[in-house]
Amino acid sequence: MDILTDTSLPSPCWLLNEHLLIENLKTISYIKQQSGAKILLALKGYALWKSFPTLIPYLDGCCASGLHEAKLAHETFAKEVHTYAPAFKEEELEEIASISHHLVFNSPAQFKRFAKQAKSVNPFLSLGIRVNPEYSEAPKEIYNPCGLNSRLGTTISHFDTHILDDCEGLHFHALCEQGADALEKVLHVFEEKFGTYIPKMKWINFGGGHHITRQGYDIEKLIHLIKQFKTKYNVEVYLEPGEAIGWETGTLITTVLDIVHNGMEIAILDSSAEAHMPDTIIMPYRADVLGSGKAGEKPYTYRLAGNTCLAGDIMGDYSFDQPLQVGDKLTFLDQMHYTMVKASTFNGVKLPSIAIERVNGTIDVIREFGHEDFKNRLS
Ligand SMILES: *Cc1c(COP(=O)(O)O)cnc(C)c1O
Repeated sequence: MDILTDTSLPSPCWLLNEHLLIENLKTISYIKQQSGAKILLALKGYALWKSFPTLIPYLDGCCASGLHEAKLAHETFAKEVHTYAPAFKEEELEEIASISHHLVFNSPAQFKRFAKQAKSVNPFLSLGIRVNPEYSEAPKEIYNPCGLNSRLGTTISHFDTHILDDCEGLHFHALCEQGADALEKVLHVFEEKFGTYIPKMKWINFGGGHHITRQGYDIEKLIHLIKQFKTKYNVEVYLEPGEAIGWETGTLITTVLDIVHNGMEIAILDSSAEAHMPDTIIMPYRADVLGSGKAGEKPYTYRLAGNTCLAGDIMGDYSFDQPLQVGDKLTFLDQMHYTMVKASTFNGVKLPSIAIERVNGTIDVIREFGHEDFKNRLS
């Protein structure tokens, strides 16, 4: 399906393509059917909740990282809610417990402190603990949950067997944009370290970071690993991808506001790398722009930059077949995951509108933002 730039849309605007989303969901659904795993949406990566009616038939629920995401899952998804937080707050615990199906603690201390209270609010709650297998091939330290001195999950040397009576599941999250080969290696280390506890569990959660919907991902290997694990231990297996759900399902449409010159041509857009696509700065990664090449590849090279006063608010250098003109629309590709969930109103830049292109081709603009959204956050 071609991605076109619709010039009648507000700008900037995130445009989700429902057809492409369903294609990803079909892949997810196939893995569920073939492997018997349950698959959750990680709200951290994708939380465009007006699209949830499309997702709900294909997924088993959501994984949330605390009260606000748990409430979003409960109110808008209404299937399983799995809540984990690096640390729960006393005053939020009961509400979280009352709307969650799984509650995953990060440390034995939090498990012991809150387990009874949580169960008294919700006797059906299944409790688990996040462990750190201390093995990861994550591409960058900021995205490595198993890196040096990581706070995420309990290492085997700090595991406390006293929690085992009330603990029904183990959770690990060690991958980031990775294939089934990386999962195989993590599983190996996880089994080596925590293997004696696995048969006592009802479920094991393999976390997120499975790049399932990326072209070339070895889906059959993933299915094999899950089936093998389920047979060996007789446990329920969960995956909770975020990125893979929204992967390549939509764009961010922006407008060229001005072109300035300082050693090169610089196009200032009505968007912001810092505020709308922060991963381009912190990952760092380069978002593709429709019809563009790398710097120097096509005749006209520009630096694309944001409309804030942050010097480093730069999307990158791109080249085009034609010179850019003020008013031109530029479409950044693959902008559905880890963008709107992270977006800010930094420097007063307008948040992009949100639109959905339906399967039948109609486009619904479902949300627009204005000055109030900026003002209301600040006091
Ligand atoms: C971030 C995260 C996920 C989702 O990761 P993706 O890379 O978006 O698939 C799942 N589980 C936990 C605990 C996470 O922190």
